[in-house]
Amino acid sequence: MKQTLAVLWAGPNSLIGLVLGLATLATGGRAQVRRGVLEFYGGFSSWLLSRLSPEGILAMTLGHTILGLSPAALDIARDHEHVHVRQYQQWGPLFLPAYAWCSLVAWWTGRRAYRDNYFEREAYGDEC
Ligand SMILES: [Zn+2]
Repeated sequence: MKQTLAVLWAGPNSLIGLVLGLATLATGGRAQVRRGVLEFYGGFSSWLLSRLSPEGILAMTLGHTILGLSPAALDIARDHEHVHVRQYQQWGPLFLPAYAWCSLVAWWTGRRAYRDNYFEREAYGDEC
């Protein structure tokens, strides 16, 4: 029951991930399920991730979906991304606005918008 509520609460974000996942499948990408989460890689996911950051991003979580560059990239990023899955379960539809707000505050106060974001610090195992 608790897990069902967590899936529903994160559902709007998972829906965004599913749409991007369908675009991935339609452009030659693949899907797999690992640890109860639907992962997409290749195709549109690779294209999107390689353009989101100059350094490139291995993977990105949206609710109970993870978009990745490749199966190897997903293997490397999985533990980190599953912290984000738990954050989506806690924050639900508020996660993306809260994440954006934390990046804005970090940037505004002279810190790094990505790496000093509260949610990323938690996912990287930093002291928060
Ligand atoms: Zn992260």
